[in-house]
Amino acid sequence: MANKLTPKDRLAIERVHMPEQDSSQRAANFSEVNLGLAEAAAIREAQRCLQCKNRKCVEGCPVRVDIPEFIAKVAQGDFAGAAEILQRRNVLPAVCGRVCPQETQCELVCVRGLKGSPVAIGHLERFVADWAMTHQNGQIIAPAAATGFKVAVVGAGPGGLTCAGELARLGHQVTVFEALHDPGGVLRYGIPEFRLPKRIVDYEVGNLVKLGVNIQCNVVVGKTITLEQIRRQFDACFVANGAGLPVFLKISGEDYNGVYSANEFLTRVNLMAAWKEGPGRTPIIRGRNVVVIGGGNVAMDAVRTARRLGAQHAMIFYRRTEAEMPARVEEIKHAKQEGVEFHLLESPLEIFGSDDGWVSGMKFQRMQLGEPDASGRRRPVPIPGSEHTVECDVVVVAVGAQANPLLTGSAPDLEVNKWGYIEVGPDGATSIPGIYAGGDIVRGSATVILAMGDGKTAAEAIDGYLRKLRDKG
Ligand SMILES: Cc1cc2nc3c(=O)[nH]c(=O)nc-3n(C[C@H](O)[C@H](O)[C@H](O)COP(=O)(O)OP(=O)(O)OC[C@H]3O[C@@H](n4cnc5c(N)ncnc54)[C@H](O)[C@@H]3O)c2cc1C
Ligand code: SF4
Repeated sequence: MANKLTPKDRLAIERVHMPEQDSSQRAANFSEVNLGLAEAAAIREAQRCLQCKNRKCVEGCPVRVDIPEFIAKVAQGDFAGAAEILQRRNVLPAVCGRVCPQETQCELVCVRGLKGSPVAIGHLERFVADWAMTHQNGQIIAPAAATGFKVAVVGAGPGGLTCAGELARLGHQVTVFEALHDPGGVLRYGIPEFRLPKRIVDYEVGNLVKLGVNIQCNVVVGKTITLEQIRRQFDACFVANGAGLPVFLKISGEDYNGVYSANEFLTRVNLMAAWKEGPGRTPIIRGRNVVVIGGGNVAMDAVRTARRLGAQHAMIFYRRTEAEMPARVEEIKHAKQEGVEFHLLESPLEIFGSDDGWVSGMKFQRMQLGEPDASGRRRPVPIPGSEHTVECDVVVVAVGAQANPLLTGSAPDLEVNKWGYIEVGPDGATSIPGIYAGGDIVRGSATVILAMGDGKTAAEAIDGYLRKLRDKG
């Protein structure tokens, strides 16, 4: 049926809308916002794909998923076939289908977008991955025969997990060392349940364990074990420890109780289940008036989390306008629907507190946009005399993160740049033979799919390195 469609038929189909949980209800719960496509809607959306010979979408995907091929299977209703194609290139498809910024990757270059909207590749990816989760019960592509080589991976975020999965498929024995008590990296401690349920992370990590990946949590490389010890015990290593060290505003009052970095705020809620009721949960301050400073995805996650924790006024304060906000358009839209208040062109000057040490308010200054700065965005310029105060009982600082020097500082031979990020070649090789790196610890804060792309590139390079070791005898 799908094959009989002409290009004109395909162009006549309108892009599918992702069904969402109603905004009035979801602002008070942590259940997933996007509900996923039904089978008929997925097939219809897949029929929009033009099956281009020049596969621009694949070029736009850092892990090179065979996008037209899996979409063709969806259009035929062959979901098992689609899942098999997807899994070949992507070890975390249900994660990517939920959190990848497809609008700046595969969908940005999708040829269908030249006439109307691009194919909803991300929604289809999620559909197929969810279908496989429900119908195939953790069926995995069997790994190659054991090679006898041992590889260590530092960090169980998307970069480390992807590298581990690819290497395990090639028959290498992989051990992942993770500092926290649960694997997933930002997927677990940063991205909230309402965007990426933890059961999805559990499922995809579980598939890697089935492949033979050994994940050792509560191991801080640089403290519990050094990179040098890893080097002696393993044939190669991939370092993907992320960039999780928070950046602060460096203004007066940041040490009052009730002032959090976004990292701490989100980790308490996500990893340590502060949003749940009952014993075992980590305490969190449920502010009535919550100020979140920043305009990126992390700020959106923090402010939407604060709203769900009961904030009457969950407020974003950002020093530029909405047009300059780095957050995804969908995140800003969802935040607004959920009642988040946006205070734009506002720059923080000071945090006030009570005598007993708790935050009570903030001073801001209004800004206007001047000439573009080095980032190409118009620079915010203070408006004299526009200082004013805002009452609040919680402040969350979400203005970026940087490299944590704990691991790199303990490995003097590992070359880093002036910001502390690891220097690598195009295949992820570091200054130490056999040690590769990728993800945020190389790029600075980036995206899940770029970290996964690095993990995949490094896995191929490590495999080549190990083959050479074997050939040398
Ligand atoms: C709140 C938030 C929301 C985001 N939302 C999105 C989104 O929607 N879409 C998107 O594409 N990107 C998003 N990002 C960015 C994305 O999550 C990161 O770019 C990506 O996770 C980087 O992957 P990584 O594997 O390099 O590092 P991470 O995910 O940071 O994982 C690194 C892991 O290494 C561990 N580790 C650190 N030091 C050590 C050590 N010394 N020893 C052992 N283990 C160590 C950490 O505990 C962590 O588990 C978001 C980021 C944040 C913070
Ligand atoms: S570029 Fe778009 S239309 Fe063309 S094959 Fe890829 S998904 Fe289909």
